[in-house]
Amino acid sequence: MVHHYGPHYFRTNHDSVIQYLSRFTEWIDGNYIVKSKVGDKTYPFPINLETLEQFFGIKDLSVDQAEQLLEEKRIDIRDPQNSEEFVLSRLGPELYNAFYLGYTLKQWGKHPKELDASVCGRIPIKLNRDPYYVEHKFRKFPSEGFTSMFSRMINHPLINVKLNTDYFALKDKIVPQKATIYTGPIDRFYNFEFGKLEWRSLDFVFEALETEFAQECVQINYPGDTQFTRKVEIKHVTGQEHSETVVCTEYPKAEGEPYYPVPNKENHRRYLQYKAKADTENKVYFVGRLAEYTYINSDEAILKGLQLFDELSERHF
Ligand SMILES: Cc1cc2nc3c(=O)[nH]c(=O)nc-3n(C[C@H](O)[C@H](O)[C@H](O)COP(=O)(O)OP(=O)(O)OC[C@H]3O[C@@H](n4cnc5c(N)ncnc54)[C@H](O)[C@@H]3O)c2cc1C
Repeated sequence: MVHHYGPHYFRTNHDSVIQYLSRFTEWIDGNYIVKSKVGDKTYPFPINLETLEQFFGIKDLSVDQAEQLLEEKRIDIRDPQNSEEFVLSRLGPELYNAFYLGYTLKQWGKHPKELDASVCGRIPIKLNRDPYYVEHKFRKFPSEGFTSMFSRMINHPLINVKLNTDYFALKDKIVPQKATIYTGPIDRFYNFEFGKLEWRSLDFVFEALETEFAQECVQINYPGDTQFTRKVEIKHVTGQEHSETVVCTEYPKAEGEPYYPVPNKENHRRYLQYKAKADTENKVYFVGRLAEYTYINSDEAILKGLQLFDELSERHF
């Protein structure tokens, strides 16, 4: 069992999402542990007390000492305007150069100065020893994987799925009775009238290995000068027992399937032009990561779906 489109670590704080998805799956614990390889050492990531201890060679760092250490390291930037300023103002140049700069350059094809503060701001800085990648109250993973969960979700007489079908090839034939919910890229819907929105994509290269486990945890980030950004061995999370394993290496690129919107001022301005047009549509609703040109996790995508359903059912049913 592998994740063809990159690892998906399910986590949420939304009860309604947990309740809804639990109709379609059982859960196992989300063993999401990420490390970052800097030089020849691997460090816990996101940065936590142990990362600071190992990186600066200090033993038994308390929370107060860590705060004081970061206070000495950080640069005084009151209102960070971009991702570089954000990280420098929180962690200072040493940690920024080691853990963030190279990774961001590869992942986004842009200098952190050219990216909104939110891009690096999304990664927490944890002054504790919690080894897990996320701190959400529900950090669990579908026991039989995502495909199984979604298969049950769409197994309903009123749901008809057409795979490998381009919506734009059918658009003129579809006359929505109530609503069309469009989840594709918003710029494509309007034929790129205001110009193309920028997306980041990835190549996933899978390698089967004759060993039970190939790395110490599910994800290892490579902020150094490799072409790839991370290696993922999803078996740590799926809990499968097998004598062999699969490692997926991710190579970021500009072309290809749209995965991540590139948050900066120019793209935001362009998106708002599309959104203004989308807001005038009568029966078409734009929802999700591609249609709203926003980075959201899967729980937020599901929450948006549930909220839109409530809104539409009040209006139409
Ligand atoms: C590499 C990667 C790793 C991620 N890791 C995590 C994670 O660890 N945890 C987490 O919670 N979230 C993660 N996410 C985010 C998660 O994938 C998204 O939040 C979620 O998929 C968004 O759902 P969506 O319905 O908005 O968009 P999508 O899942 O992208 O669905 C949109 C759908 O529209 C279809 N579509 C688009 N255009 C057309 C067209 N013209 N005709 C027909 N169909 C069309 C697409 O094929 C797609 O199926 C990750 C995302 C990426 C890219």
